[in-house]
Amino acid sequence: MKFTDKLIDAVDKKLERFDPLWQAEHGVGGQRSRYYDKTGVAKWREWRGVKDTFYDYSAWLKNLAAMAGMVASAPLPILKGFWEYRWMGSYLGTFMFIDRLFEGYRGTELRIAHMNMYGIVQNLTKKIAFILANDKRLGGGPDSDKCIPFDETIPPLFLKGFKGLTPVPMQTLPEFIICDIDQHIEPYYIDVAESFGLAADVCSRCAAEAGVALDDAFPILGKVMLSTNMPCNASEATSMFQRRRIGLPDFPVTMAMQHAEKEAIPYSRQELLNAIAFVEEHYGVKYDWDTFYKYAEIMNEQNAIELEKWEIFKTPYSALSGIAETLYKLYEWQSANGADPYFNKIDRKVIEIMRQAYEDKYQPFGGKTRHRAFLWGPSAVYYTDFPTWTQNCWGITIVLNMDSTMGYNQIDTSDREKALDDLTALEQRATMRHHAVGGWDNVNAVWDWAKKFNCDMVLMNDNIACKGMLGVHAMMEEQARDLGFHFIFIEHDLEDSRTVSRQDMRNCVNNYMSVVLNEKPLDPTIVEFDDSQAY
Ligand code: SF4
Repeated sequence: MKFTDKLIDAVDKKLERFDPLWQAEHGVGGQRSRYYDKTGVAKWREWRGVKDTFYDYSAWLKNLAAMAGMVASAPLPILKGFWEYRWMGSYLGTFMFIDRLFEGYRGTELRIAHMNMYGIVQNLTKKIAFILANDKRLGGGPDSDKCIPFDETIPPLFLKGFKGLTPVPMQTLPEFIICDIDQHIEPYYIDVAESFGLAADVCSRCAAEAGVALDDAFPILGKVMLSTNMPCNASEATSMFQRRRIGLPDFPVTMAMQHAEKEAIPYSRQELLNAIAFVEEHYGVKYDWDTFYKYAEIMNEQNAIELEKWEIFKTPYSALSGIAETLYKLYEWQSANGADPYFNKIDRKVIEIMRQAYEDKYQPFGGKTRHRAFLWGPSAVYYTDFPTWTQNCWGITIVLNMDSTMGYNQIDTSDREKALDDLTALEQRATMRHHAVGGWDNVNAVWDWAKKFNCDMVLMNDNIACKGMLGVHAMMEEQARDLGFHFIFIEHDLEDSRTVSRQDMRNCVNNYMSVVLNEKPLDPTIVEFDDSQAY
């Protein structure tokens, strides 16, 4: 053993009492001990031992550099953005957000988690700077009319065939990503929508989007917009509010609802072609198939690596799981979607580390995992670190999330007809659309997925306003009993943390684990705590 390693070991031994994992194991504290009550404000950073604390801190600095780069690239638009948009202020919580996502992460799982997270940060910061620099509400910019704004649930890959135009997902900045970061931001927009007379029992994601539109808080770019019926009927309604308020010419990309039926492909494929024709007409440009193939190849590589990851997920030796997997895959697939080759670089590095960890029979989280769970149904956006909590508190690792099973097919880039069919198959299986809607078989597929990934548990997200999922409540309970899965309904209100708090969500798990399974928590400080004022 080298001298430096010996020295590090000695320091680690000396300081181990500051490590929350050690504290929880020895009954003298835990993850929650370092927080101010009710808040997400920590009194000090998590001590993870010398090497991991240093790595975590350097990742923090790297994210800080990406944010500084964002401000430096468009200082005035960023300043105006803070002034104009309430949601911009919530981005200040990003550091706390990342810290809490990876609490309890050590060694290989920590490295992979930060690599994935940096992929999101570098892409998102560039997006924020670009969008604000070209936002017509803030005075516009050189690319304002070269953007194609589209609903974020439409996978943007097919729009990459327009050379010289930039597809911009409309809801990602003011609604989706920001709700992941700050649980208090979307309730404001939901209230705006309801004060305009919107019923209070609709899906809060859709209500929040309607509220952002009514509050004139969407950046305005491009000459037209593409709305959609994806993933569900509630999305159709919010699309209508948005198109009326924003007032740009709109093409609604209405993909087949029963997307697993074979008739769906010709129908949805024609919708994509119609959308392409609409953009061509309004922008006076021609779709370039060779450019599309270039980006499709990028997506193909991402999907090929993803399928290899799945093989490792099936074993106890996957260094990638929980939120490090879920959030990355969701963003890579739905927002970057073949358009950013940096994600391929990350994927190549991560799969190499995963292969090695598998060979070494490395068990993440100190081998403390007790249950392997499949997370099914649309997840609560205001409690992004819920999978981190299930691992740290009860040793439940989230092996895979429903939304990570989005379109994973390859696109044939040698034949235009085949390419179109493959693209349609991929586009139809978008966020939530793949399994939360589209017929009973889609929802019920959870058992096959859970079995395939060797899970003993299913955590069923129960968005109390998701009409599709509510209808199947009792049937899912029955199936779980018959098939012998541990099964927990996690009630939540998707983007409105006032209705079902984070603690209410935790209690769903706490009750099952303590009353039904009679298990003891790994960390008693996080069984019940008040984080109602946290970002
Ligand atoms: S949670 Fe349900 S209701 Fe809301 S957008 Fe998703 S599928 Fe639609």
